[in-house]
Amino acid sequence: MKCKKCGKRAVEKLKPYGIALCRDCYVEFYEGLVERSFKKFGIVKRGEKVLACVSGGKDSSAMLGVLSRLSEKLDFEVEALHIDLGIGEYSKKSMKTVEELCGVLGIKLHVISVAEFGFTIDDIPKKTCSACGIVKRYLMNRYARLNGFDVVATGHTAEDIISFFFKNWLSGNFSWSEKLLPRTESFDERIVTRIRPLYDRSEKENLLYVICRGLPFLLDDCPHAPRDEWKEIVYYIESRKPGFRRNFVLNLAKYLEERVHGTVEVEEKEEYGYCKLCGEVTTFDVCAFCRLVKKFSAKP
Ligand code: SF4
Ligand code: ZN
Repeated sequence: MKCKKCGKRAVEKLKPYGIALCRDCYVEFYEGLVERSFKKFGIVKRGEKVLACVSGGKDSSAMLGVLSRLSEKLDFEVEALHIDLGIGEYSKKSMKTVEELCGVLGIKLHVISVAEFGFTIDDIPKKTCSACGIVKRYLMNRYARLNGFDVVATGHTAEDIISFFFKNWLSGNFSWSEKLLPRTESFDERIVTRIRPLYDRSEKENLLYVICRGLPFLLDDCPHAPRDEWKEIVYYIESRKPGFRRNFVLNLAKYLEERVHGTVEVEEKEEYGYCKLCGEVTTFDVCAFCRLVKKFSAKP
């Protein structure tokens, strides 16, 4: 199999695009796709300071790799944030991988440890992932705001977006829609704008990118990771209908952009206020993060 662009030996046939590419041409192709989405969705604005949240897995490593390349071309700044969740060996390996990755890319790394709050994710016996999600969202938003970043970037992929969409749609929860856009603008001065640079990239594309560039990434899964049946369904549909994944997220973004910008009627926004303990934005008296700290922290 030969590379369609240069004729060298191809590393992979990319079914959704109907082409085979060699290592170097794939890297260029992938970065071109991300750049195109950046322009199409206005993912980052000129001069913005981006805090990229990196776990060390293939997706966040790919995100940091491509952000570091695009930052010069599109004129924005990027630094990395790693949250040490305190999940035994897994967290130790994650931290080591992120340090190596930032070293290779020459990107400044910031680290926050959940243990600073008197507990770790391993201390949470039930609904661990949902608590972990609360912790990560809270810490990255607060850290970015207090340290002068304009935007927080996460490594969500097309598979994440589609499985999130199905789970919420089927449970009748429709207040999530803006969270599924490539860029979610801040709605309050205490909330930092969120971007998803790999919104229309698949996990396979990300894996191939980090391998082709030789970027460090962690193969191990978090020991708390549940089996994600929705993702398995997405893989299956993609295997039968190549291109499904990409078309789904691109059309979802188009539909949601119209909702957010008012061409489709949107339901009332939820009322919100500020947490009486920490002052972050919440729809309750005390935010979900502070309730977790109260329940699990060993600190008095
Ligand atoms: Fe956190 Fe769950 Fe992800 Fe592990 S799998 S890092 S516990 S959200
Ligand atoms: Zn080539």
